[in-house]
Amino acid sequence: MDFKPTEEQVFIRQAARDFAENEIKPGAAERDLNAEFPTDIVRQLGELGFMGIAIAEEWGGAEADNLSYVLALEEISRADAGVGVIMSVNNSLVCDPLDHFGSDQQKEKYLKKLASGEQLGSYALTEPSAGTDAGAQKTTAVRDGDEFVLNGTKAFVTNGDSCDVTITYAKTDPQAPSGKGISAFLVEKGAQGFNVGKHEDKLGIRCSDCVSYSFEDCRVPAENMLGEEGEGFKIALATLDIGRLGIAAQAVGIAQACLDESISYSKEREQFGQPISHFQAIQWKLADMAMEIEAARLLTWRAAWMRDHGMRHTMESSMGKLFASEIAVKAGLQAVQIHGGYGYIREYPVERFMRDAKITELYEGTSEVQRLVIARSLLAD
Ligand SMILES: Cc1cc2nc3c(=O)[nH]c(=O)nc-3n(C[C@H](O)[C@H](O)[C@H](O)COP(=O)(O)OP(=O)(O)OC[C@H]3O[C@@H](n4cnc5c(N)ncnc54)[C@H](O)[C@@H]3O)c2cc1C
Repeated sequence: MDFKPTEEQVFIRQAARDFAENEIKPGAAERDLNAEFPTDIVRQLGELGFMGIAIAEEWGGAEADNLSYVLALEEISRADAGVGVIMSVNNSLVCDPLDHFGSDQQKEKYLKKLASGEQLGSYALTEPSAGTDAGAQKTTAVRDGDEFVLNGTKAFVTNGDSCDVTITYAKTDPQAPSGKGISAFLVEKGAQGFNVGKHEDKLGIRCSDCVSYSFEDCRVPAENMLGEEGEGFKIALATLDIGRLGIAAQAVGIAQACLDESISYSKEREQFGQPISHFQAIQWKLADMAMEIEAARLLTWRAAWMRDHGMRHTMESSMGKLFASEIAVKAGLQAVQIHGGYGYIREYPVERFMRDAKITELYEGTSEVQRLVIARSLLAD
């Protein structure tokens, strides 16, 4: 067993840390306040190769491994978890399925631009009545000659307004039972009948945009179907294996930011004539946070390592995401507690971390769903 990152992994993590510290962290509070999309930062992430880290150079990516991806994403999320999710969606939910299921023609036309950061992608699976029960898709895609005609509504699409292309899911066989007869499509923003709804006013990760979509007789060329007809739900689920790894890394980054701020604040803040870090009650909180972060990080790294070694890692991704998201929420609460009343006001970043952390327990499968996934793996014959 070797816990030593390779030279390339160290280089990528350091590049991400430097960029996060110098370019992302300074504007994070303001972007949060104004719910402002970080256009320039996303462009620079593309230039650094961070928008398609594990994609081959041939298709516009950085051709690094998935461990490098989670290392970089942790660092970016440590500075601003909203930027983290923008990067995560593009890497995990858009570039990865295109890489695995796309035709060479689709890779040439879409993946090259998405993985290099020239364009941004979104992933539209959730519908108003198909959240956790994602197989209950109501959006339809009806074949008409060389095209499919899409009708339906999608909810909560991250990068939804800022993107250039979305991977959306629709029922091509309306008679098929839940989870069957679904196909995936690449739909370009601006296509006729493809409408972007209002921006959600979110609790956290506020610099990332999250919108609804409506498709009204939106015509998509048949060649834009991703994978085979009826294979959509399989693609969506396979995508979540890497998606959950990304969210695990995002959660570890948020938790680490909570610990960083708590350590420095507890050394500065004095009560009863001494820094509050001298109190055992504070020390125990810091110790628990550090231990839990390390455990979450190792779970995340192991799942990424398994992916890099071609091993099935559905359960391990779920474990990483579940554990990391729960300790991130806890770390957010503890960081505010350590900051006392100052933790509750915007002048200090920990209230933002606490708000940002919560989403990691909700998207790409709630914590309840992660427990179901883990239990199913344990009980499978
Ligand atoms: C900020 C944000 C960004 C998002 N980005 C995207 C995106 O880019 N693309 C996308 O497709 N979706 C996205 N989502 C959607 C997200 O993945 C869903 O919100 C999530 O899957 C939960 O679905 P729901 O909100 O409909 O909750 P529901 O499914 O209605 O769940 C409500 C509650 O019931 C529980 N529950 C449901 N079913 C079960 C069960 N079988 N057993 C036990 N408990 C259960 C849930 O765990 C939850 O606690 C995003 C959501 C948010 C808030």
